[in-house]
Amino acid sequence: MIKNKELIDRFFRYVKIDTQSSEETGTSPSTAKQHDLAKVLYEELKEMGASDVYYDTEHCYVYARIPGDDRSPLGFIAHMDTSPAVTGKDVKPRIIENYNGEDFLLKTDEFPELLNHIGEDIIATDGTTLLGADDKAGVAEIMNLAEYLLTHKEVSHRPIHIAFTPDEEIGCGTDYFDAERFGTKESYTVDGGKLGIIEYENFNAASAHIHVTGKSVHPGSAKNIMKNASTLAIEFQNMLPAVEVPEHTEGYEGFYFLDSMKGDVEKAELSYIIRDHDAELFAARKENIKKITAYLNDKYGEGTFSAEVKDQYHNMADAMKDHMDLVENAMEAMKKVGVTPVNEPIRGGTDGAMLCENAGIACPNLPTGGYNYHGRYEYASIQEMEKSAEALIHIATM
Ligand SMILES: [Zn+2]
Repeated sequence: MIKNKELIDRFFRYVKIDTQSSEETGTSPSTAKQHDLAKVLYEELKEMGASDVYYDTEHCYVYARIPGDDRSPLGFIAHMDTSPAVTGKDVKPRIIENYNGEDFLLKTDEFPELLNHIGEDIIATDGTTLLGADDKAGVAEIMNLAEYLLTHKEVSHRPIHIAFTPDEEIGCGTDYFDAERFGTKESYTVDGGKLGIIEYENFNAASAHIHVTGKSVHPGSAKNIMKNASTLAIEFQNMLPAVEVPEHTEGYEGFYFLDSMKGDVEKAELSYIIRDHDAELFAARKENIKKITAYLNDKYGEGTFSAEVKDQYHNMADAMKDHMDLVENAMEAMKKVGVTPVNEPIRGGTDGAMLCENAGIACPNLPTGGYNYHGRYEYASIQEMEKSAEALIHIATM
């Protein structure tokens, strides 16, 4: 049974607005249609009486504040865009009431997690689009928090600072984030999934581009002369540990991921991403790339291989050490809504990690109640959304 109909109505309203971002355009925001949701949120925040409501009409960010008691302000952030992977146009969300474990668009043998939702109400797609719970569930839950606090003035709470960002799905969500306007160093992103999971550890991340220069001669007279850049590239790849790849790792295990390769006899290129939660192991992985490069240059001649290794972002766990009350409060809030909190390492990055790194904002990630992101099988549990929203209120008032 739906308890917080306004929250669900809000969510439906937002997912029907197409805000798909794009990796192709190179603009900021990457797609103009993200403004369609930004405008709605801006108007709704003004209407409910939030303070300092600001719409960055150039780069598509929305900021607002809800004045509170004299404690330090607390931030909540969600992103407005949806994944470029699957269309977000004409989303037709539907509710499967009192889910009984039967197959619908989703089958339980493929998605056994569904069986945890028996008796709940599920929001699914019609199978032609994604749902957009990532992250409009988060947006709706933050808007619900704002509305609640503004209509319950008797409730004492920390000042709340809100930001809605574009282009998170293409890794550009914080490019034009105005940390000064946001005005707090303690925040949460509300962009997780399963209720109860709190995330504050993410990967250390680097990219590595390997360039191989070969020597092309006629294959008929190539003996002892030809250097085939493509086969040399394969040799490089084969020197990396075969099991330290995304498809064989989980939890805190790091990896090298060969994201793309191309080559002919004269030139070849390998593009990797390197990931590890542990700072020392991360450094060792980068060092390993350099060692292999040096070894192969020794073998085939200086300049045959070159490696460009660049850091992308770092684990926010280090910076979180002074702000563990954020994690503790979130865990306490989960208990208050009746779920056991779990800390799970993120096998990726978040906008929070970027904000932590670039603006010194401690920023763990909270759940929203959505599942199977970036695809047609995306769904959300209404009861988990309601509890996620309730948890935000607990956190704000702690
Ligand atoms: Zn997201």
